[in-house]
Amino acid sequence: MNSTNLIRPRITLENIKPYKPGKPLWEVQKELELDEVIKLASNENPLGPSRMAIQAVSISLTDINRYPDSHAVELKKTIASKLVLSEDQLIVTNGADELITLISETYLDSGDEIIVPSPSFSEYDFGAHLLGATVVPVKLRENFEFDIEGILSAVSSRTKLIYVCSPNNPTGTYLPKDRLEELLNSLPKHVLVVFDSAYSHFATEEDYTDGLEYVRAGFPVMVLQTFSKVYGLAGLRIGFGVAPKEVIQSILKVKEPFNVNTLAQTAAIVAIKDEEHVHRSTENNTVVRKQLYDALSGLDIHYTESMANFVLVKIGPDAKFVYEQLLLKGVIVRYGDTWGMPDYIRISIGTEKENRELIEALYTIVTGLKLANFRSNV
Ligand SMILES: *Cc1c(COP(=O)(O)O)cnc(C)c1O
Repeated sequence: MNSTNLIRPRITLENIKPYKPGKPLWEVQKELELDEVIKLASNENPLGPSRMAIQAVSISLTDINRYPDSHAVELKKTIASKLVLSEDQLIVTNGADELITLISETYLDSGDEIIVPSPSFSEYDFGAHLLGATVVPVKLRENFEFDIEGILSAVSSRTKLIYVCSPNNPTGTYLPKDRLEELLNSLPKHVLVVFDSAYSHFATEEDYTDGLEYVRAGFPVMVLQTFSKVYGLAGLRIGFGVAPKEVIQSILKVKEPFNVNTLAQTAAIVAIKDEEHVHRSTENNTVVRKQLYDALSGLDIHYTESMANFVLVKIGPDAKFVYEQLLLKGVIVRYGDTWGMPDYIRISIGTEKENRELIEALYTIVTGLKLANFRSNV
């Protein structure tokens, strides 16, 4: 008998489902022996990182015998001046993912509740389950719009956190400013709104907000930002949070001293100043997102308009087949079963070339399916 079976992990861990990441490029390449693989599964920057950031990292490589700055002082200064905030309203973390865990560790006792519009980013649930807290999901409405009334009526005396991901992963929909204000003005004082605007740079609608103005105005809001998406630094792991200083002080209590490595700090300081790279990346996104919309419409495939660098696409009962066929052709997208949406796939916006190849592959698969359906109906 294997005696380690008797060493019991905490009960609450039974609620945690392992995170299913997008398939890594190298894995698909190796498995299928393909020369070229296109990854449109994890909302990464298809243009790569800022060149200036690469240069800064290579210079700071000689310092990696030293521990990193535990307070990320220079980066905080840079962010604070860029976003018109004070440094004590900032915390820098090992990706926004770590920040979600830290927020959970700071605020959630066993039996506390978090409210999560659903479907959304799975890390919010993970953080709650880690601490034995309860997840109260509130379904998005038709067209994946946020249900503010639903959220408000889900609030109880045990509610600690409300997550709002805007633009929302995986739907690409967002919470307009006036609706966020409605929510903020109606909440009881014991609730913190965690406003995840990881994809804010890609939003193009006038009534979009990244949430920062509400922190500046003193609302009980914590804004999450990341260097993994528009800044193209996903592999280095760095993100940050913006909140009233009392909130930041509490979260700092559970932060490990050296959570953010030296190379990540160095890269982020430069990447946030490289406006040319950010501009090129968002321009590419707007242009290619439109090209993807047009191609999908041409194929009679339904999609949800997105304010982010990915598009949720409704394929129907053949979605899993389409996902697998794309994979065989070397195009990695995300299959919707992760979010309990088996009829959907989520496609990240790539370069124009990657997008063309995706569309070509999709065209072949979908016309093949239509032909097969036609044949079986005659
Ligand atoms: C990618 C993503 C993040 C950021 O993740 P990192 O840990 O910083 O890489 C945060 N929130 C959402 C919704 C995301 O999709």
